[in-house]
Amino acid sequence: MLERIISFISAPDNSVLPQVCGIYPKSIHRSEDGVIFMARIDTGDVLVAPASSGFEGQSFPAGDRTYVAAGLSHSNAAVLRGLFPFTAPAPVLKHPRTLGVGDRLGIAAPGHIRAFEEYDAYPVFAQQSIRELTLTGRTYDDVIDCVSFFVFRDGFTKGFGADGDHVKTPSEVEYAISSGCSMITLDCSEHINNAAADMTDGEVAKACAWDPDLEGEYLNRTFRAGKAEVSYNETDLRRICLMYNGAIEFAASVYERFLRGREGTIDFEISIDETKTPTTPAQHFYIANELISRGVKVASLAPRFIGEFQKGIDYRGSLERFEMEFEQHAEIADYFGYKISIHSGSDKFSVFPIVGRHTGGRFHLKTAGTSWLEAMAVIADNEPELYREIHAFALEEGFKSAKDFYNVSADLSRIPQLDSLSDGELRQLFEQDDARQLIHITYGAILSAKNPDGSDRFRSRLYAAWHMHEEEYARRLSLHIGQHLEKLYSGFRIL
Ligand SMILES: [Zn+2]
Repeated sequence: MLERIISFISAPDNSVLPQVCGIYPKSIHRSEDGVIFMARIDTGDVLVAPASSGFEGQSFPAGDRTYVAAGLSHSNAAVLRGLFPFTAPAPVLKHPRTLGVGDRLGIAAPGHIRAFEEYDAYPVFAQQSIRELTLTGRTYDDVIDCVSFFVFRDGFTKGFGADGDHVKTPSEVEYAISSGCSMITLDCSEHINNAAADMTDGEVAKACAWDPDLEGEYLNRTFRAGKAEVSYNETDLRRICLMYNGAIEFAASVYERFLRGREGTIDFEISIDETKTPTTPAQHFYIANELISRGVKVASLAPRFIGEFQKGIDYRGSLERFEMEFEQHAEIADYFGYKISIHSGSDKFSVFPIVGRHTGGRFHLKTAGTSWLEAMAVIADNEPELYREIHAFALEEGFKSAKDFYNVSADLSRIPQLDSLSDGELRQLFEQDDARQLIHITYGAILSAKNPDGSDRFRSRLYAAWHMHEEEYARRLSLHIGQHLEKLYSGFRIL
């Protein structure tokens, strides 16, 4: 293997085809010091570079220089990001269309890259919540490094973001920033007083200390934000204050401590989507107005929309009502100069044209687990025995522990019995909502399951299979994410 790599390095330009040597053609960068590229050898992908470039690895002579075959370690990723800035996360939310596409496994970027090559949207390839890090046993370093190597390998030079998604505490914010995240999604849910939604007017009046400044600012006034119009009577205003003032103070304090002055390098998203009740336009306007009056610069805000945005399946609820409210949220975001962010955005095909239309093509949308579902569909198609074992495990053990963390309504009794399906029919499970949700939320249990002797029960077999079927996975995933983009673009693109 190494001989072929050496023959490529030593050959005058273009006389040895990189593909023949296991070299990724789009990764080849020539400079005066020599050539840097990635290659696939027996043990996996490696970086090959002149020893003088700073990568750590096994050295060997090639031509008149010494080269190294460098492993995909964190320290080598840091060297790569120093040499090639396009491999480092950058703030991308200033671009009109951005999508966060999470990759829980560290294998999805090649498929994601292909999808984004076809559209002008900018990607946030590295996006993971603390919950996902815990359940997958990964770190932000690992999440970002994987993407750095893949964008270099596949020649994706337009830039990508890294989102510390749903971080909830100052220490989590600090962890994400110190790891190099270019975006912070602050989850304010623990500072939202959900109980206020169910209180009577009398209870609200008692619980909410009245603030004369707020009264002067909002009471009985109507505000116009583009085509949206919101107004506040006394009980509404008190209820909004009771519910959201804690979250506003929290967001403002995190901004002061970690983000003020760093707006050019870190995008700040406010997430209020994990609440009990949908965010009304009046609530949205109030929160935005309060944050902006405190000087907080927001790149995007994620309200909770009306209807159900469950994981991994299409929107449930009245599309007509969704459209009416979404239009107002989009107008408010536009008025304040940030983007509306749509969470749990995977597979919401029926709402995508509405999102495209009412934002005029200016939005942020996040998908997280859909790349995992596609990866499992590849297993169902190619490794039916392994899939059957995992599916049975998810039903018996995984679902119980996972369902409390995620918004799903899966009814396990509706999932077709495994032994009624032939190997060729297993793929159909990924078209059935209940089965999709079962697999969607049990990733943590599946990846961390152990045999009695302490070895991995599924994890290593899964990664070996994904490695073997890498091309098929990339092809499928790029098609799937491409369908998302196509529907979103259909709402605003002038054909
Ligand atoms: Zn969310």
